[in-house]
Amino acid sequence: SKANAHNGYRVYEEVMSEGFNAYLTLGGGLRKAIEEGQFELYYQPKVRSLDEQTVGAEALIRWHHPEWGMIAPDKFIPIAEESGLILPLGEWVIRRACQQLKIWQEQGLAPISLSVNLSGRQFLQPNLVDVVQQILDETDINPKLLELELTESMLMSDVHGTIKKLHDFREMGVSLSIDDFGTGYSSLAYLKKFPIQALKIDRSFIQDLGIDGEDDAIVKATIAMAQSLNLKVIAEGVENRQQMSLLTDYQCQEVQGYLFAKPMSCTDFEVYLEKFSNS
Ligand code: C2E
Ligand code: CA
Ligand code: CA
Ligand code: CA
Repeated sequence: SKANAHNGYRVYEEVMSEGFNAYLTLGGGLRKAIEEGQFELYYQPKVRSLDEQTVGAEALIRWHHPEWGMIAPDKFIPIAEESGLILPLGEWVIRRACQQLKIWQEQGLAPISLSVNLSGRQFLQPNLVDVVQQILDETDINPKLLELELTESMLMSDVHGTIKKLHDFREMGVSLSIDDFGTGYSSLAYLKKFPIQALKIDRSFIQDLGIDGEDDAIVKATIAMAQSLNLKVIAEGVENRQQMSLLTDYQCQEVQGYLFAKPMSCTDFEVYLEKFSNS
């Protein structure tokens, strides 16, 4: 019957996902993937609202598993965090992003900034600042082109340590932004203590813009607050023209989302840049 089929499917799914998690938890899969270079960075354009020019990109990791196919970061980042493999993996991401910036610079492309997501455990790693400094030295890129995306929860877990770390990054010239803004528990009082340059409004507030009046109010207020604190605002997950025109009205400086482009492989992103960048 239909119910049985449905049940059967659920059981199958559960077994599959248990097996999959067990497989990953062993760490063997991830460890091997790092050694064998099964990861790739995709790039999603950041667009300036004013003239819709591409001014940067966010690097988003992808895992091409030889048997399981493409695995989304939401699936393996938490497991990499638990096993500690996030440290080598996270370092790979920063290095790969900086190497790519260097390649684009050598190709003579108009400079764009590249942002990289950090995970909680990676941010708490005591030698993170040294790791980033070493990668900047190695790749010899302008530190201003590198932006680190941090979440509220990672900033709030050790506020004193966080402030010191953020200042170290600022001295190096690296940009800092708060990702998924509005979904965590950051105190507004700390926002002004953290030397950050940008807030990224989470997609969950953008989704129903123009439909849900409360989201409109939250987004508007966030942008106004950011402006008065001299922070740039970026909206994530912009999918349609209605959202875009509201965000432009509210004076949100930059946007990211499927309306402009999905995250793309490096090759596709270079083609996109040729077509759409300001040069
Ligand atoms: P995030 O940092 O909030 O990244 C935005 C996510 O939203 C990306 O998913 C992106 O593909 C997706 N997205 C962008 N525009 C739209 C849109 O218009 N509509 C919809 N529905 N989705 C959109 P992705 O690439 O699957 O990444 C998921 C999360 O995984 C990221 O969320 C980030 O927290 C994490 N992540 C990705 N790459 C890395 C990495 O290199 N290191 C760490 N630590 N985390 C990463
Ligand atoms: Ca992000
Ligand atoms: Ca995030
Ligand atoms: Ca988000």
